[in-house]
Amino acid sequence: MHSTPSFGADVSDKELLLSVRDLAVSFTTEAGTVRAVNGVSFDVRRGDVLAIVGESGSGKSVSMLSLVGLLPPKTSSIDGGSAIWKGTDLITMTPAQMRATRAKEIAMIFQDPLSAMNPVHRVGRQIAESMRLHLGLSKKQADLRAVELLDLVGIPQPATRAHSYPHEFSGGMRQRAMIAMAIACSPDLLIADEPTTALDVTVQAQVLDVLMAMKDRIGSAIVLITHDLGVVAGLADSLLVMYAGAPVEVGSTDDVFYRTAHPYTEGLLASLPRLDSSGDAELTPIKGAPPSLIRIPSGCAFHPRCPYATQRCREEVPTLRPVNALSGHLVACHHADELQLVGAEQ
Ligand code: SF4
Repeated sequence: MHSTPSFGADVSDKELLLSVRDLAVSFTTEAGTVRAVNGVSFDVRRGDVLAIVGESGSGKSVSMLSLVGLLPPKTSSIDGGSAIWKGTDLITMTPAQMRATRAKEIAMIFQDPLSAMNPVHRVGRQIAESMRLHLGLSKKQADLRAVELLDLVGIPQPATRAHSYPHEFSGGMRQRAMIAMAIACSPDLLIADEPTTALDVTVQAQVLDVLMAMKDRIGSAIVLITHDLGVVAGLADSLLVMYAGAPVEVGSTDDVFYRTAHPYTEGLLASLPRLDSSGDAELTPIKGAPPSLIRIPSGCAFHPRCPYATQRCREEVPTLRPVNALSGHLVACHHADELQLVGAEQ
């Protein structure tokens, strides 16, 4: 496998924050060992937005949760790889180091703020508490700052709404409050795991706008985890497409959208609604379902669903290789050269 993917050619002037190489994660279940992540590598640089894309069970969330110590310790195991965060390997950090990193340097934004926020504490207090704890602010300073943050993320009447409980907010407002909480300590990296999946399309766009504006304001990077390629168009600098726990295509957003090299990415793009097509144009879903990660298919894991599969695909595991060495576009497909797939420009 290509061990050092880079995302985009012109990245040398940006600070490298996180460098993940050959990450492997598994879970022990009664039915057997689930190989959830196998050979994932990527870089994240300050200011960048990296989108990790794939269907449910592709390993995209597990990859990031494993890096910040949020997987169940009794049933999960990091079987290999490294994740160098500003010079230190996240995987070998002590629990105390990890808690400190998570508190101040890497913040998570989840799909469901109700489960991530404390339902019995007022929203303003929850935002203020992390600043008192990690930034040493007084109660008054932290309360004032919490109201400023709620204002920044677009909560109307923030001084009043700071006294509300999470259940008194709408879904979009809760997600904005969650972003306020995540940026309270100005982290270097925001990991947003399906942050808008539960919201309707208009609110989704507003929340993503807020997320991008906050990233620019605090000078952080974002890893955006999503099953929806449509969400990342226009937002992400680079994409990592995952299937059955492994990367199948990585590259700049333009490369992956307009010079698509993997049949799975092609399938994800074909299942997106198009603005330039008539309203009754049919979407083309990828046939079949993602495989069980206990019994991953032989050869290319995508072969049972791939319209281009050959005998070689059924027997030999494809490894990531450059499509374009200069741009850092990589693909794991035996037949990418012959297929010459193209994405959104088609
Ligand atoms: Fe399809 Fe074969 Fe490429 Fe896998 S290796 S994506 S089965 S053509």
